[in-house]
Amino acid sequence: MGIESTAHTASVGIVDNKCRILANESSSISPEKGGIHPREAANHHAENLVPLVHQAAKKAGVPLRELDAVAFAIGPGLGPCLRTGATAARALALSLDKPLVGVNHCVAHLEIGKATTRCKEPVLLYVSGGNTQVIAFAEGRYRIFGETLDIGIGNLLDKFARSVGLGFPGGPLVESLAGKGKRLLQLPYSVKGMDVAFSGMLTAAIELHKKGESLADVCCSLQETAFAMLTEVTERALAHLDRDEVLLGGGVACNGKLRSMVSRMAKDRDAEMFVPEASLCVDNGAMIAWTGLLMHKSGVRLEVEDSSVNQRFRTDQVDVSWA
Ligand code: AMP
Ligand code: MG
Repeated sequence: MGIESTAHTASVGIVDNKCRILANESSSISPEKGGIHPREAANHHAENLVPLVHQAAKKAGVPLRELDAVAFAIGPGLGPCLRTGATAARALALSLDKPLVGVNHCVAHLEIGKATTRCKEPVLLYVSGGNTQVIAFAEGRYRIFGETLDIGIGNLLDKFARSVGLGFPGGPLVESLAGKGKRLLQLPYSVKGMDVAFSGMLTAAIELHKKGESLADVCCSLQETAFAMLTEVTERALAHLDRDEVLLGGGVACNGKLRSMVSRMAKDRDAEMFVPEASLCVDNGAMIAWTGLLMHKSGVRLEVEDSSVNQRFRTDQVDVSWA
């Protein structure tokens, strides 16, 4: 069983050792105004995790005592949210007398993609609300080849959508309006080496809308520019590592425009793009369960005393003993 609670989503998944998804039950908080308030999100998770655990067990047809281990996302994420998930996981593991496994959330996005698509040695473009990273396995670790220097791509879309009154979550709303856009407006294109930055683009896009540019044109330009930046750094990682597989992960991987730009780039260099199904792209418990299972089978053990969460747990800090 895997428990996810790093940000807005509380989710409990159960997988078997062939990565069949037996259950993947989620509940997300969607604030009406402003961003995610960590304390409010943690309260949401505290209310929902216990029912989700039972719902997942029922859906999977697996009594809790038959679980092999209880995994949870130990970081990175929002402190109060992480601690709520960790508390649920510890209580469950102790009461059932099962091993506890602490999983890196970003690595879980990659492992579930590898297990459920045909890719073998991908470069992962991980694009979610809070995270934007280009990750690949190299010399014994998952390494970050590029990342955002400020906000995540999903945050860019969500913050823009909110500030122009579109609502939340912004990504899908921006995507559908962008389809009606006709003009490419100039926005700051900030790629620095392998890294990207989005906050300047956010300010510029809000300004364009204030100056009277049509919302459809601004949405279209926002997608074109931001996704071109992501495609560029992903291509550079592919070239650098001499790889021919790109895997998308994170909620923004649901976006059709991003998929078409990345797959076009991949095709042009005889590479292939892979995207897990939407329920496995967004934050979910199944990916934590699967990565936890890989870790558990490779002998990773975690004592309750050592199970403090790590808000800034970096992808490249993970000791990948199971690869
Ligand atoms: P995650 O943080 O991985 O759970 O993903 C949530 C993020 O995905 C939010 O920022 C959403 O706005 C974004 N998102 C979901 N669907 C889409 C879409 N179709 N296009 C762009 N962003 C999306
Ligand atoms: Mg995520």
